Amino acid sequence: MGVHIWQQQPEPITEFAAEETVDIVVVGAGIAGCVATQSAVESGASVICIEKFGKPTAHGSDVGAINSIVQKREGVHIDPLEAARLIYGWSQQQANYNLIRIWADRSGEVLSHYVRMAEARGYTVRINSRLTARADWYDLEEKYRMFRTAHLFDIPEGSDLPPQRWGAAYLVDVVFADALERGARFLFNTPAEQLIKENGRITGVIARGEDGFIRINARRGVILATGGITDNDEMKECFCPISLRVDKVENFPKGGNMGDGLVMGKWVDAAFSRCYPAPIIHPVNLSVLGPGMASSWLIVDRYGRRFMNETAFEPMVTNARLNAPGNIAWTIWDADYLEHFRKQEPDKFSALPDNVAEQVETCVESGEYVRAGSLAELAEAIGVPAGNLEATVARYNELVDAGEDVDFGVPERFLSPCRRGPFYATKISAWLLTLPYGLHVDDNSQVCTEDDEPIAGLYAVGNVQGDYWANSYPVTCPGSSHGRSVCFGRLVGCALAHGENLDGTPSA
Ligand SMILES: Cc1cc2nc3c(=O)[nH]c(=O)nc-3n(C[C@H](O)[C@H](O)[C@H](O)COP(=O)(O)OP(=O)(O)OC[C@H]3O[C@@H](n4cnc5c(N)ncnc54)[C@H](O)[C@@H]3O)c2cc1C
Repeated sequence: MGVHIWQQQPEPITEFAAEETVDIVVVGAGIAGCVATQSAVESGASVICIEKFGKPTAHGSDVGAINSIVQKREGVHIDPLEAARLIYGWSQQQANYNLIRIWADRSGEVLSHYVRMAEARGYTVRINSRLTARADWYDLEEKYRMFRTAHLFDIPEGSDLPPQRWGAAYLVDVVFADALERGARFLFNTPAEQLIKENGRITGVIARGEDGFIRINARRGVILATGGITDNDEMKECFCPISLRVDKVENFPKGGNMGDGLVMGKWVDAAFSRCYPAPIIHPVNLSVLGPGMASSWLIVDRYGRRFMNETAFEPMVTNARLNAPGNIAWTIWDADYLEHFRKQEPDKFSALPDNVAEQVETCVESGEYVRAGSLAELAEAIGVPAGNLEATVARYNELVDAGEDVDFGVPERFLSPCRRGPFYATKISAWLLTLPYGLHVDDNSQVCTEDDEPIAGLYAVGNVQGDYWANSYPVTCPGSSHGRSVCFGRLVGCALAHGENLDGTPSA
């Protein structure tokens, strides 16, 4: 008997209130599951998608792809080899390069399909340069390079299409509507509980329906699209303890990402990803100047000492904060913040709202920002030793004046002095958006055993697809979480509908 639920083989469920048979069963109606369902039904398969909650799941803005029709018309060209090499590098070569390369080579063609579908329905799609994405970070040195991969789905002003809070939700709306029109069936409020394995092959899924268990047989195969482990603290403690030290978990719906796909997979001999999980954690309040305006300010620990390279490349800042003494870090900036921002982010500067000063005032009033006339007063207000803070700021300003950060290596563009009062401070926040972690898969995204043997009839897409990232989410290609969900959702959905694997071999 194992310690964790995924190590304890359950009693097989054998009594059913209903039974269905289709070509393909998709488990989970997030972005990956909706795309897999739509792609399979568009390719002629009969499909049931089962979902734990009452509607499809969608959040986030950017959908990443390389060389789509949108990028072509906006004059953006990205070298797939370079992008793949950098993503692979972020994983310290733990990830499966062939999977990354499939995304780099084929995401443009895949997303273009949905761009055409969305535009035909009245949606708009453009390249995003706001929020995490930047327009002009592609020519920085490799460590900070960011490609213009982020696609933003939207509706035009005055449209009567249903408004959504998140850009990716528009894409999910389009895909879901198309899948329904083509005859896909979605069973909502129907959590999958077990996979059916017969003679070494996955032949279906057992789900809990309103009236009891439903057995859904899958002639061609089962595609797991259950998301990662964001809501499962036990799994986080085992596989990604740093993610337990965040201030807030932003994922929704709560309980949607319990790692069910990993648990069900383990029960049929699947292995977990060979990579360490790559949490998507954003420092929300690096946006001193408003949403999406993140820039690089001096950061100190609770002793008032500088301790990290502050370049505002999201995971780098949050990783350092989460491992700092007391899990605390303070951003410090001065009265000339607008000038500093203009130098660091000239492209975003033009998009600053008119009322930045007002917004800063509101944050001071709410206590989110601390303001003081001198560094000594600021230090006292935030509880760090004043002498240390003054010395740190003096050293930092020296480096800024020299134009070279010989202490931490922040590029000159992102060095801004902290000289003129009043001075400000705010705590660096760390919000966990999603924690991708999945099952060990091969180059076909087919789930494998510990011995690297593919399990017949079982595939994983989206965040339950393991071996894709490791250690940190690579914002070098913004939107690549949605991007790989869409890319593999479509490629696996289409291939399986034709009885094939991604490499063209028979799927059986
Ligand atoms: C606030 C926020 C902002 C984000 N911004 C971005 C962004 O800009 N760009 C980007 O690329 N990524 C972004 N992300 C991350 C991205 O949204 C996720 O990584 C992505 O949704 C993963 O898609 P998925 O389909 O694999 O999983 P999910 O979206 O988590 O979908 C999984 C689905 O499976 C269902 N499910 C789980 N278990 C079962 C079961 N046993 N039976 C049936 N159904 C089950 C769940 O209920 C859920 O509907 C953001 C995330 C959040 C939370």
